[in-house]
Parts: sequence; structure tokens; C-alpha cells
Amino acid sequence: MEAGNTGKRLYKIVQIALIFLLTAAVCGIVKENRGSGDAKNEGNSRNYGQNAAVPDKREKTNPPAVPSGEQLTACSELSLYSGLPYFIEEYSERYIDYKRKNPDLPYEKVITYVNIGLDYDFYENVHVVEDGHEITVLVNKYNKLDDDFTPELTQLDQSVCVPGRGPQYLRREACEAFVKMHSDAKKLGLNITAYGTYRSIKKQHEIWNNAVKSGRTVEEVDSLNARGGHSEHHTGLAVDVIINDYAVEQTEEFKWYSENAHKYGFIIRYPKGKEHITGYKYEPWHLRYVGPEIAKEVYEKGITYDEYYVQAIQPAKNKNIVNCNIKCNTYSGNHP
Ligand SMILES: [Zn+2]
Repeated sequence: MEAGNTGKRLYKIVQIALIFLLTAAVCGIVKENRGSGDAKNEGNSRNYGQNAAVPDKREKTNPPAVPSGEQLTACSELSLYSGLPYFIEEYSERYIDYKRKNPDLPYEKVITYVNIGLDYDFYENVHVVEDGHEITVLVNKYNKLDDDFTPELTQLDQSVCVPGRGPQYLRREACEAFVKMHSDAKKLGLNITAYGTYRSIKKQHEIWNNAVKSGRTVEEVDSLNARGGHSEHHTGLAVDVIINDYAVEQTEEFKWYSENAHKYGFIIRYPKGKEHITGYKYEPWHLRYVGPEIAKEVYEKGITYDEYYVQAIQPAKNKNIVNCNIKCNTYSGNHP
């Protein structure tokens, strides 16, 4: 057993050393590319690796730049976290840059936040999601639905909706879970009703534009209203319950659903104190359906869905892509 443990320790040390050397080499290359860019790009952390696409001729004649001691230390520290399932090697420079700007933030959070995209401003570096029809889809200020995206919807019975708000629609899975939650709460004398559900991209554009036209600043509007394509209501998986007002916190219904909604697959998507991650003010009325298993984990961990997605869902997706590539390569090799 002793010999086995010593062997394992040695293997781990060699492994970390190799990762360190590899990361240091990557950092060295990045530094070299940055050094060959325009002066106006110097120090601009948003231009990640852009200069690499237009190599300067000097690059070919100059000897490779040697990473500074500070960079080597940063690379060495980062390499200790390379075993995290959500560590993305190509983001190494972004991790180091974000850690330098936020030295008190633990590396696990640095990696999580960069994976979310928080090293960019909101609505900068936006991706169009490819999994809009999946229950787990992440829609936020960095991930938008395609302009043509329309989910398959089911109309909610009027008995579970706030009167006078017009017909309400959700995806079937979310609708069934909401009806179940409503009826269980009803047995306790509580009335959890749907105030607002699915919204088209056209409607979302209207809401955002009207809010800006009303004289509020763009920053203020962005903290309350999603821009078109970026709203969870567009997925058919989000429901505002009872009323979209902080008065909802004073209700017995809120006390109950804030502790029980996850059992039905719903999470409070924009929690208090997490505005710097979600980009939205606390919304006690906005529930998002993600399914009971994920909702339980998000609830128990006390994290946002943005964090959960990049830590637990995205790595599995990336793994599938790698597996697919391996299969595809094998296939093309056998059948040229
Ligand atoms: Zn909402």
C-alpha cells in the first residue's frame, strides 16, 4: 500500500509539473503574440489573442519571448486547478487576467466567472445558443436564443393564472410542474398563480424599447428587463408568479414556494445578492423550470443557474463534442 501511495504521489507531482510547463509555454506564446500587436491594443484585456490572427513579420525573426516571473507564478498557481471538470485550457490567459484584476476571488470562482463570460461586459461576446429546445438551456446576457426560435407551448388553464392577464403559455414540462405545484399549494390554502409566462422576441423588444423610451437609462433598464432574444420568458420555461412586484415577498405563498419550488423543478432564477453574476436585480417572483434534479442541486448549493450551468452542464456537453469528434475521425479513417 505504501509503495502504491508513493507512486501515486510521484505521478501527481510529475503530472502537475507537466501541466505547469505546458501552461507556461502557452502563456509565453500569448505574451509573444501580444508583443507584436499595435500599440493601441496593448493592455486591452478584451482583445484576447486577436493579434495572433495577423502575425507580425518580426515575430518570425525575433527569439520567443520568455515569460516573466510573475507570469510563471500565475501559470503555476492556475495549473493547480486544471483538474477541475470545468477548467477550459484555452481560457488560461483570461483566467490569469481576471485573477489579476480580482486577487481576492478564489480560483474556482475565477474559472467559473470567466466561463460564464463575466470578464466581458454584459451583452459583449454574445453567443447564439444551439440547445434552445432543451430544458437545461442557459439564456442570459451572454447567451441568446435565435431570432426565429419558438418553443412548443401549452396553454395554462385559467384557474392557475392571475385573472385579467390574458392567456398564458409554457412548455408542456413546465406547465405540468406548475399545475402540480399550484394544486399542492392550494391544499395548504395558498394560491400560486401565473402572472406572466411565455413572451415572443417581438414582445420582449417592445418591452425593452418602451422602458428606454420612458426616460430610464439603458443600465437601469438592463438590470430589470432582458433585451430581445435574451429573455428566459422566450424559452417557455419561465413564469412570474402572483405579481412582478417586491410585495410578493410579504405573502405566505412566497414563504412556501421559496422553500418548495425546487421540488417541482423550479428555481428562483435571479436571487438576492447575485446581481453581479446574473446582471439582474433580485426577482423573487421569477421562477425558471430546470427539472427537479437540477433545481434541487441549485437550491442546495445556493448558486445561480449561470454558475451551475458552466460547472455541471457545459463540461458534459464539451465531453460529448470531443467524443463525437473522435468517433467522426475514426469513421472517416475507415471510409476515406
Ligand atoms: Zn420574469
